[in-house]
Amino acid sequence: MLKRNYKYLFGPVNSRRLGVSLGVDLAPRKVCSLDCVYCEVGATTVLTMERKEYVKYDKVVEELHHYLENNPMPDFVTITGSGEPTLNSRFGDVILFLKTNYPLVKIAVLTNGTTLNNPEVRRELLPADMVMPSLDAVSKEVFEKIDKPESSINIDEYISGLIHFSQEYKGELNLEILFLKGYNDHESELKLLRDIILKIKPTRVQLNTLDRPGVLADLKPLTYNELEVVAKIIDYPNIDIIARRSEAKQSSESKVTISESMVLELLKRRPCTLFDIAEVTIESDFEKINEILEVLIQKGRVEEVVENGVRFYKFIIQQKKKEPKN
Ligand code: SF4
Repeated sequence: MLKRNYKYLFGPVNSRRLGVSLGVDLAPRKVCSLDCVYCEVGATTVLTMERKEYVKYDKVVEELHHYLENNPMPDFVTITGSGEPTLNSRFGDVILFLKTNYPLVKIAVLTNGTTLNNPEVRRELLPADMVMPSLDAVSKEVFEKIDKPESSINIDEYISGLIHFSQEYKGELNLEILFLKGYNDHESELKLLRDIILKIKPTRVQLNTLDRPGVLADLKPLTYNELEVVAKIIDYPNIDIIARRSEAKQSSESKVTISESMVLELLKRRPCTLFDIAEVTIESDFEKINEILEVLIQKGRVEEVVENGVRFYKFIIQQKKKEPKN
């Protein structure tokens, strides 16, 4: 393995859904079309539907080429972002680069799905092996409360984009719904979701809940039992409750050595517990992880936050020093 610090790649991480997954960050923090109350990246700073080359294609493919030529192949390359990746106008070109040069690598795309009403975005997504859009609500009121969309987004058009895409796409389409207590878990919303899911017909429905700090401190996750009740009401043949931790799929070939920079890169994208860090870095030596965390805390790069009795480690965003005025 050739060590190098990448700017747009992260991991590989041992993802609960994808196995060993190399992440590609195509949207800078926090360019997004939604401002979800539970977002683990933080509040959206650029709320937009404008598609632009937010992260330069040439730089991304240079890093991908370097990584894939010098490291074991991951199970998946996952296109994601610290915002919405399909807002990057070159994301389709990144998929084509991978499909042309590394046809054995599978590609997953994590998206909030709001751009799927755009036929160009749908076309660009077609070569991906797995697309994982999210949909948290069907009624306008709940959608606006939980996802706080950019002003031009209309929930009916958003859903119609998901239905269109599902009809055109031949790969695996996994629809993720994140539930928050008091937001989208009441029966009437669940029944609306059930009816819309039958129209979207995804490969799988994945039920999730908050498992790390969001933007609002008083957000409450659903318990596993409550998610089971939700699953019964939605009553879709292929439905999973995404457990907080699944058995780590070990891959000795892709084992990576944990380092300060690796932990920091992970925490930049989301707050994590000690177990999260162990899971995604495939590092079973908790003492080693603790030592790294202590150093990062002492350096003022990371802080501890306790939420609902669970201890998370969070990246501290450094404020830029003001230039002295002449
Ligand atoms: S769509 Fe994703 S990145 Fe955007 S605000 Fe919601 S959770 Fe955060």
